[in-house]
Amino acid sequence: MVDPRHTSQQYPRCGHAARENRRTQADFQCASCGYWHHADVVGAKNVLTRGHRGVSRLSADNTRRGG
Ligand SMILES: [Zn+2]
Repeated sequence: MVDPRHTSQQYPRCGHAARENRRTQADFQCASCGYWHHADVVGAKNVLTRGHRGVSRLSADNTRRGG
């Protein structure tokens, strides 16, 4: 079971979760590493990560640099 309330505030790349991460309804910027993403993207990534935890870590992340 995935709780969308928390996934919307956690940044999947570093695991930092804070209300401050969610700047606006549409913008998400990690308060820890400063990385920015569209909020919907972060929420979706978190849902996938939690929903398939331990299944695979082959996520082709095109944001290798930065962060
Ligand atoms: Zn971060």
